[in-house]
Amino acid sequence: MLLKASMSSFSNSSHLNKLVRQEYMRLPQGGKCQVTYIWIDGTGERLRNKTRTLDSEPKSIKDIPEWNFDGSSTYQSIGSNSDMYLVPVSMFRDPFTLDPNKLVLCEVLTYNREPADTNHRAHCKKVMDMVKEHCMWFGMEQEYTLLGVDGHPFSWPSGGYPAPQGPYYCGVGADSAFGRDIMECHYKACLYAGVNICGTNAEVMPSQWEYQVGPCEGIEMGDQLWVSRFLLHRVSEDFGVVVTFDPKPMKGNWNGAGCHTNVSTKQMREEGGLQYIEKAIEKLRKKHAEHIKVYDPQGGEDNKRRLTGLHETSSIHDFSFGVANRGSSIRIPRQVGEEKKGYFEDRRPAANCDPYSVTAAIATTCLLDLEEGATVGLPVAV
Ligand code: ADP
Ligand code: MN
Ligand code: MN
Ligand code: MN
Repeated sequence: MLLKASMSSFSNSSHLNKLVRQEYMRLPQGGKCQVTYIWIDGTGERLRNKTRTLDSEPKSIKDIPEWNFDGSSTYQSIGSNSDMYLVPVSMFRDPFTLDPNKLVLCEVLTYNREPADTNHRAHCKKVMDMVKEHCMWFGMEQEYTLLGVDGHPFSWPSGGYPAPQGPYYCGVGADSAFGRDIMECHYKACLYAGVNICGTNAEVMPSQWEYQVGPCEGIEMGDQLWVSRFLLHRVSEDFGVVVTFDPKPMKGNWNGAGCHTNVSTKQMREEGGLQYIEKAIEKLRKKHAEHIKVYDPQGGEDNKRRLTGLHETSSIHDFSFGVANRGSSIRIPRQVGEEKKGYFEDRRPAANCDPYSVTAAIATTCLLDLEEGATVGLPVAV
C-alpha cells in the first residue's frame, strides 16, 4: 500500500538512500576545496547557505574571499538593487563533506557596505572590543524542539499529546527520549567542526533538547552559537525532521525553550568575585525592559509566550535574582554562591534570540557606563 506523504512526519528526502550518497562522498576532489558560506537572513532568525569551489584549502579566514548573494530572495533587499556582500568572519571544518572542506560564517553588508538590518554582529564586535580588558566569557544553553514536517512535535501521537511532563528531562528509553539520534549526531558534528560545545541534555518537554556552547570570549559566543544552529538544522535535515527555536512551541502545560546566557568577567572569576556579580545584577535590574526587547527577534513579543512565571521562568514584567533559583530572571549557581566567585546566569533570552544582541546588551549594561536614558540595543559611541 502506498503511504501518503502527508501521513509521514519525515520529509521525503530523508528516505533517499544515504548509502548511495556515501559512494559519491568518497570521490577525491582534485585538490580543490568546497567552501559553504553561511549567513543570517532578513528574518534575523533563519540561516541561508551556498557553496563555491576554491583552488586550494584556505589556511585561515583571510584566505576566503568575499562573495555576494541575491538579497531580494532572503528578505534583505529589493529586487532592483539586490546584491548584498558576504564578508567571511569565522571558519569551521565541514562535518558533512569532511576535510579539507569548510563552513564559513559571514556578516552581511548592504551594497553601500553598511551592516544589513539583521547583522547584529557588527555592533556586538564594537562593544566587545571596548570591553576587551575584562575578558568577558559567555556560555549559552541552547534549547530547541524537534518537529515532524507536519509541524507537530516529533514522535508525539499524530494530532495528540504524550503523557504529561515528568519522565522526559534527562530521560532514557523509547517512551522518554524522542530524537536522541539527532542530538548525538549534532554533538559529533559540532566537535568535528570546531564548535566549542560543552554538553547536552534532554529537556522537560518531550522532543525538546538542550546543548551548551562555551565558555567563549566576547564575539566568539555569537559566532559559535550561530554555526552550532546551522549544524543542528543541517543534521536534522538528514533525518527529515525540523528544528524550531520558537520559545513556546506548544501552548499549555508544556515547557518553553530558552537560551540561558551565562556570564563572567575576569574580576568575577577571581577570589571575592561575587561582589562584581552583584554589581552587574544591580545594573541589569535597572535595564530589565530594554533587555527584554533584545532577547528575542520580535522585541519581546515571542518571549511573552514563554516568560509567564510558570515552567521554570520568571514573569516578563518583573526582574528578580537568587542563588539556585530557577524561577528568577537571574540565577547565581549554588556553587558560585558558596565559593563567592564565578559567573551568573541570565535566564531571560528566548531560544530564538540573536546571541550577538544578547551578549552585546549584557556587556554594555554591565561594563559600559551609559548616559542616563541610553538604551542597550543601540550602537554606543566610542
Ligand atoms: P544549568 O545548570 O543552568 O542547566 P548548564 O550546565 O546547562 O547549566 O550550562 C552551563 C553553562 O555555563 C555552559 O554553557 C558553560 O559553558 C557556561 N559557563 C561555565 N562557566 C562559566 C564562566 N565562568 N563564565 C561564563 N560561562 C560559564
Ligand atoms: Mn542547562
Ligand atoms: Mn534547560
Ligand atoms: Mn540554565
